[in-house]
Amino acid sequence: MKPELVIFDCDGVLVDSEPIANRVLAECLTELGLHTTAEDAARDYMGASLETCISRAEAKLGRALPADFRASFRGRVFAAFERELTPIPHVAEAVAQLVLPHCVASNSHPDWIRATLRRTGLLPLFEGRIFSAEQVQRGKPHPDLFLHAARSLGKAPETCVVIEDTTVGVAAAVAAGMPVLGFAQQNDPQALETAGARVFDDMRALPALLAELGTLS
Ligand SMILES: [Mg+2]
Repeated sequence: MKPELVIFDCDGVLVDSEPIANRVLAECLTELGLHTTAEDAARDYMGASLETCISRAEAKLGRALPADFRASFRGRVFAAFERELTPIPHVAEAVAQLVLPHCVASNSHPDWIRATLRRTGLLPLFEGRIFSAEQVQRGKPHPDLFLHAARSLGKAPETCVVIEDTTVGVAAAVAAGMPVLGFAQQNDPQALETAGARVFDDMRALPALLAELGTLS
């Protein structure tokens, strides 16, 4: 298989948003009476769409979250991003070195993806090739989003390579029939490997890993 398209997840792969988002989500849920630490949030919600997070939190709480929860959570996270968000180390150089076409496919809302890429200076590397779970019926762990991205860019699934940092995303890539590299800088490498990823933990290794995939088969 010669890779023809590299599909990047956004949160935790391009931008270091997960620690910030987990902390703010924990604060918001705790204020509403569902005591949650940042570690709890990482374990229970990371990688899922906001709608899924809300459903899970409502199930734990035993009642609906306020109608303005989405807007208030996003507002607080975006404000924190403006103050704190950084790119994943070395990812800009790794993407700039790619000779292959590439895109981003994320469970997050399009406004979220654009805001995080803009804040970290990565937006020009992905402009016009941004795919959100809002565009498909089912987000990750279902394959729909990755298949939509591949179809939109005219590539067969088996010629795409996915870069993911959570087991939710790895499962989606496996379901889509796409080889997947698991970026394990913050998450459990064993869990990513068990889900079906080949694991790495430094973006400087990415160009060589992709080249290797192209010559392996
Ligand atoms: Mg992610």
